[in-house]
Amino acid sequence: MPGTHRFEGPSDLHLHSAYSDGTQPPAEVMASAHAHGLRTVALTDHDTTSGWAEAAEAAASLGMTFLPGMELSARHEWRSVHVLAYLLDPDAPALRAETTRIRSSRLDRARLMADRIARDYDLLWDDILAQTGDGATVGRPHIADALVARGLVRDRAEAFSGILSPGGDYYVALYAPDPVTAVELVVGAGGVPVIAHPAGRAGLLPAKLLGRMLDAGLAGFELGHRENREPGLSRLRELARTRNLIVTGSSDYHGLGKPNQPGEHTTDDAMVARIVERATGNAPVYP
Ligand code: AMP
Ligand code: ZN
Ligand code: FE
Ligand code: FE
Repeated sequence: MPGTHRFEGPSDLHLHSAYSDGTQPPAEVMASAHAHGLRTVALTDHDTTSGWAEAAEAAASLGMTFLPGMELSARHEWRSVHVLAYLLDPDAPALRAETTRIRSSRLDRARLMADRIARDYDLLWDDILAQTGDGATVGRPHIADALVARGLVRDRAEAFSGILSPGGDYYVALYAPDPVTAVELVVGAGGVPVIAHPAGRAGLLPAKLLGRMLDAGLAGFELGHRENREPGLSRLRELARTRNLIVTGSSDYHGLGKPNQPGEHTTDDAMVARIVERATGNAPVYP
């Protein structure tokens, strides 16, 4: 029903729960979003859809519209690329197989990093498990939380800039598909792919790669995000304008795991409408 969607802003389309590296269960994430005045939200845990049911029910009971989403891991050479996927079919076989592979690689990788860290620090694999929720996609944030619990660092930020840094002795890369494949998988699942924080510290992806991602069905960019910076941001804004792409703004809320607060960036209603109209894999859950 194009043009008849009942959602209303403010909309925040990038929130994490304890099914990945947020610190709250999905229902609490929705309660925090609601307390910050949001009316439309998406749950976008890393490489999993496990939080959707709980989040959708909580969002509906709070009168918010819920968009099921995910933040899919990808990798271009040495750098990690995050592809937000909205309104995908969670049962699409190819995407499911890939997220299963990524999550399993993340587990192996966390164990390898733990082994390396244990050579120099008093940290056990059980410490990391204790920080990782049942069925959660494990990541460096859980290792960071274990380091905090052991009193080895003050907070996640200190862990990331030190022990967990990609340049350091303990870092192990995770398996992830290349960004074009990631876009193809999301499109194949009927979802709408948007590059998360596309102008972050690592700078823009090469123009040629962005072109290939757009050819594969990339819908747009998350331009409203605290990690984006100039001059990349202006270049992407211009690209989005000339190619009539979707642009979003979101908080990337992780509960206590990051300073980001729900609603600190938001997405215009017209852009939410375009996402909903473009998706074929799923529909929003209305209150
Ligand atoms: P991983 O994908 O396991 O390598 O971990 C990267 C994740 O850690 C990102 O998706 C962020 O959510 C989180 N992250 C990155 N840097 C920081 C930081 N300085 N503080 C807290 N969380 C971070
Ligand atoms: Zn995260
Ligand atoms: Fe991200
Ligand atoms: Fe995120």
